[in-house]
Amino acid sequence: MLTNDQLAKWDRDHFFHPSTHLAQFARGEAPQRIVSGGEGCHIVDRDGNRLLDGFAGLYCVNVGYGRTEIAEAIAAQAHQLSYYHAYAGHGTEASIRLAKMIMDRAPDHMSRVYFGLGGSDANETNIKLVWYYNNILGRPEKKKIISRWRGYHGSGLVTGSLTGLELFHKKFDLPLDRILHAEAPYPYRRPDPAMSDADFTAHLVADLEALIAREGADTIAAFIGEPILGTGGIVPPPAGYWEAIQAVLKKHDILLIADEVVTGFGRLGTMFGSTHYGLKPDLITIAKGLTSAYAPLSGSIVSEEFWKVLEQGTDEFGVIGHGWTYAAHPIGAAAGIANLELIDRLGLVDNARDTGAYLNRVMAEAVGDHPNVGEVRGEGMLCAVELVSDRATRAGFDAALGATSGKVVAAMLRRGVIARAMPQGDILGFAPPLCLTEAEADLIAEATRAAIAEVLGG
Ligand code: PLP
Repeated sequence: MLTNDQLAKWDRDHFFHPSTHLAQFARGEAPQRIVSGGEGCHIVDRDGNRLLDGFAGLYCVNVGYGRTEIAEAIAAQAHQLSYYHAYAGHGTEASIRLAKMIMDRAPDHMSRVYFGLGGSDANETNIKLVWYYNNILGRPEKKKIISRWRGYHGSGLVTGSLTGLELFHKKFDLPLDRILHAEAPYPYRRPDPAMSDADFTAHLVADLEALIAREGADTIAAFIGEPILGTGGIVPPPAGYWEAIQAVLKKHDILLIADEVVTGFGRLGTMFGSTHYGLKPDLITIAKGLTSAYAPLSGSIVSEEFWKVLEQGTDEFGVIGHGWTYAAHPIGAAAGIANLELIDRLGLVDNARDTGAYLNRVMAEAVGDHPNVGEVRGEGMLCAVELVSDRATRAGFDAALGATSGKVVAAMLRRGVIARAMPQGDILGFAPPLCLTEAEADLIAEATRAAIAEVLGG
């Protein structure tokens, strides 16, 4: 086995890490962790640390680490048939069975699933399908896509454009044309703290209506949104938001894409976030929780109405020119089947609801009164703590001093707990595996309390 020193050096010298300060990492200034194992809600690294993973990797290891059922399903599939493509009507038993399992769980009006590899490519597929759809319907001008500031939809060219976070645009020449951003449904940062939820929702509706009027409804194809903002800060929408937004979209004949990469398969305590918030989307993006990241797999689920137009398109123009070599990869599909069976057998959707509510409660009790905690918020097995320099004004910290959330997360790591410093604002994010226990939730809340006290006093 390689020594840790050797691996660490090769890592610094050869590995181009995503979402990393490249120069600091290469110089040895930014931290490095070589992860070697995991079980349940914990990971283990090569230095012998055992860490409670309060973010389930990147909110994806929903069933927890070390599930032999999934490992065995992957091995059996690899032995039997490691790969065959899905072009021109080809399939494998695993990919067909998984498609059926997904449709059994998805909202009733959904019809078919196109399999990809990750959330970004699934959203690229969605946007291409929406453009295709409007071309088939003879509406070539209806192509713009509305996303929200603080939405996260991936890191590709179109998906990085849809993502409404500064870090993902600057110096990359994004967003591309055709991508528009509406105001974020971010109650804590509403324009006037005195606004009620209903007032704020009305304000967001007016913002959307104004955007549509400015651009022209006949130029706008779709609106994409996560049921609850995730990477943008784990922000539940204000009451009535989705109902009101959907009424606007319907009025202007604009499709709705629900990006359920985080919320699909249980994270909000319901199988889909669309059900949780009453969305009736035309397309749904799935990834992460589909396989709990035991293998890469994603999907674009389309409604029956949308599917009919795609059928019309191929009747008129022939084979649809869209495919990935690894679409519906049988090893990913085998992982997905075993994963969805495990979610059912262990009752993880209910556990996400109940233990998620417990986590949110103990977190609020542990840190809610701290003078630098502006808000503790969440839904299901998602929780966030927003840090502020002044509770009364809701002002953030001086950015020149470095991210306060990063310092708190580092202090939590020293206590054996992983949280995520969300990329915009001083927000601590929590999205543990859905199998979290109450005792583990207590540990996360206590580590957060102690770390905030260490960094900010109190
Ligand atoms: N959509 C949402 C809501 C996400 O949270 C993410 C990733 O975090 C993506 C899309 C992109 O998925 P991937 O990183 O698998 O490309």
